[in-house]
Amino acid sequence: MIYLKTEDEIELLRKANLLVSTTLAEIAKMLKPGVTTRQLDTLAEQVIRDNGATPVFKGFPNPYGPEFPASICASVNNIVVHGIPDDRELKDGDILSVDCGTCLNGFCGDSCYTFCVGEVKPEVKQLLKTTKEALYKGIEAALPGRRIGDIGYAVQQHCESQGYGVVREFIGHGVGREMHEDPQVPNYGKRGQGKQLRNGLCIAIEPMITLGSHQIALLEDKWSVTTRDGKPAAHFEHSIAIHNGKADILSSFAEIEAIEGKQY
Ligand code: MG
Ligand code: MG
Repeated sequence: MIYLKTEDEIELLRKANLLVSTTLAEIAKMLKPGVTTRQLDTLAEQVIRDNGATPVFKGFPNPYGPEFPASICASVNNIVVHGIPDDRELKDGDILSVDCGTCLNGFCGDSCYTFCVGEVKPEVKQLLKTTKEALYKGIEAALPGRRIGDIGYAVQQHCESQGYGVVREFIGHGVGREMHEDPQVPNYGKRGQGKQLRNGLCIAIEPMITLGSHQIALLEDKWSVTTRDGKPAAHFEHSIAIHNGKADILSSFAEIEAIEGKQY
């Protein structure tokens, strides 16, 4: 069931998403070699709760194992998504995808950014750049009257034409009072296929792109998803509202990019 949002609801979604963006920016400030993902998780939970929100990921149920124990997913290098924060220190040359979800005033924010830790290999930086570009290609395709398949086509075309892998098993989704609502938003697809996009539709678009094969495997913790070939993966996510005839991005990377500009 797809719930189209009113303008007031879209503004509430924007607030929840901008809190995710603020949280990710705080992580960007703290990120450097030697920091652990558990330290980043502690910071994230603090920022979220200090702003009167709750971390949606914490306690998230898992049909295959224990519920998710943290406020962020922290996925290092070959981990595609759902990495559990731990005490391993980040190293120079690592990449780290931080996915974060908030619930504020009854509405959910959901956004993800892949960061460089210190100096990262050019081929890996290029993977990050292409994945972020693919996110914006998907957003550009998310116009009223077009279809879900147009989004996936745009993402897939941009990445596969450059030899990257597009993960199939994890996809974008509707976002609202629940973090995961209908419709599903795959990162692959055919133009003109799938549900039609309408004003009031709010979705998270989140390409997960690999440097090698798109094949993945689930680790023993029953959360972390790795690339099967061990090559790095990147993940960028924005929540958007389709309204007033356009795709309005509710989350923001502006603050993160300002910090990265100085750092890298
Ligand atoms: Mg997310
Ligand atoms: Mg999501």
